[in-house]
Amino acid sequence: MTHSRRDFLRTAALALPQGLAAAGQAERPNILFIMSDDHAAHAISAYSDRLIRTPNLDKLGQEGVRCDRVYCTNSICTPSRAAIMTGQYSHINGVPVFNAFDPARPNVAKYLQAAGYHTLMIGKWHLGSNPTGFDDWEVLPGQGVYHNPIFYTATEEKEYPGYVTDITTDLMLQRLEKRPKDKPFFAMLHHKAPHRPWDPSERLGAIWRKRQIAEPPTLWDDYATRTDAVKECRQKVFDDMTRRDLKLVAPGNLQGKERNAWLQHKPDSVEIEVDGRKKTLTGMELKKWKYQRYMQDYLACCASIDENIGRVLEWLDKNKLRENTMVIYTSDQGFFLGDHGLYDKRFMYEESDRMPFLVRWPRGIKPGTTTSALGINCDFAPTFLELAGAPVPADMQGRSLLPVLQGKKPKDWRTSFYYRYYHDPGDHNTAAHYGVRTETHKLIYFWRRDQWECFDLVKDPQELRNIYADPAEQATVKKLKEELYRLKKEAKDTEDRFADSKDWPKESSYVSPKKQQNP
Ligand code: CA
Repeated sequence: MTHSRRDFLRTAALALPQGLAAAGQAERPNILFIMSDDHAAHAISAYSDRLIRTPNLDKLGQEGVRCDRVYCTNSICTPSRAAIMTGQYSHINGVPVFNAFDPARPNVAKYLQAAGYHTLMIGKWHLGSNPTGFDDWEVLPGQGVYHNPIFYTATEEKEYPGYVTDITTDLMLQRLEKRPKDKPFFAMLHHKAPHRPWDPSERLGAIWRKRQIAEPPTLWDDYATRTDAVKECRQKVFDDMTRRDLKLVAPGNLQGKERNAWLQHKPDSVEIEVDGRKKTLTGMELKKWKYQRYMQDYLACCASIDENIGRVLEWLDKNKLRENTMVIYTSDQGFFLGDHGLYDKRFMYEESDRMPFLVRWPRGIKPGTTTSALGINCDFAPTFLELAGAPVPADMQGRSLLPVLQGKKPKDWRTSFYYRYYHDPGDHNTAAHYGVRTETHKLIYFWRRDQWECFDLVKDPQELRNIYADPAEQATVKKLKEELYRLKKEAKDTEDRFADSKDWPKESSYVSPKKQQNP
């Protein structure tokens, strides 16, 4: 795009989206994009009441729209962030794994800035290069830490006392207070939580440590009928949680490397104290205990996000910004919460691939609505651009969700989408795969193993029964394969770029000079 700023503004004035025209006003809406890291939709009560109450997040859906089928095109942190910023798939935006995003590339913040928006980015950036396209930014180095985190700007680095979710919110509200009032804003508020190692605040951690969390129906999945991929992955709650994950305390005499090795160990027996007496957990008892520990901490991190969303919504009300600010809540992907016996993400299975997507914009979205239209993370950038009245560049691969959010799903809206995950073996030995999800089915190809899985999502929403080899399903499998290769071609994934790890761009992540890392 080579539009001058004046061209952008002229185009913007001509191309006001339907929602704005219908609302009979020309003032462009503010966009507040709130994204957490690894927050599965089923850990938000707007989507499921099994695990947690999240009244503030739910409010976004009650006062706006809850999208039930928004998915990640490559379910892992850095690649999802790159897809959100560019509106492009990994093989086009150059970020298939944990490599750095090229800051010289166009991104949605640059387009919005050129269209006259004041642009802000606060929190977890995790793209391995400094943010570009923002009037102001302050981000965590790499993954960042939960307690007393360091943040950095283009020129300085500062440690803030307190809990990261509170601090990230504070930093954003301070920036919004000081923003230029003659411009609409585009603000990206990115939380670190509830990413591993799931360190809650002291207050919420103590509350959740006493709670008994319901087990998911697929916790004990035996993977019968499934491929080697799920059997061989190392993201299993029962086998792959470390002592650090489980918040076991290292003996006081251990230091440095020894202490670290102790913490990274995956225990098959654990000594705990019950009513002042020591007890050793093994076998089934230990498995159940590991699940509880994991979920207590994870959900306590989510509870802090919910509280802080409440603070942000109050601030918008107090500043009379409720009506014309689109507030979006999402996560860079979903997460396994013991589903299929797993934690982490990566797989194209529902719990990991689905992103929460709650949107409130009183001036343009009817409250209390829901949609099951298939959305993908590449749609976010085109959505913001349409909302701002700015043109959507032709090289963006997503499509604006704005009409869908307004209950006017276009007749030619997608009925399937393409997915591709590369990071194999990676930390969790998760097999690389690509696949297609339609309204009713999912077909997954683990290309290095030459193994397939196929699920009927209507009859088997929990994805337990692989029907790929079922003689009665061969016509369905054939149609899904055709759709998969049609979409692969449409997404321009024809050269299989990055298919082999030797072709990956060099992995990279900003590490603060102080090397602040999780202990
Ligand atoms: Ca993530």
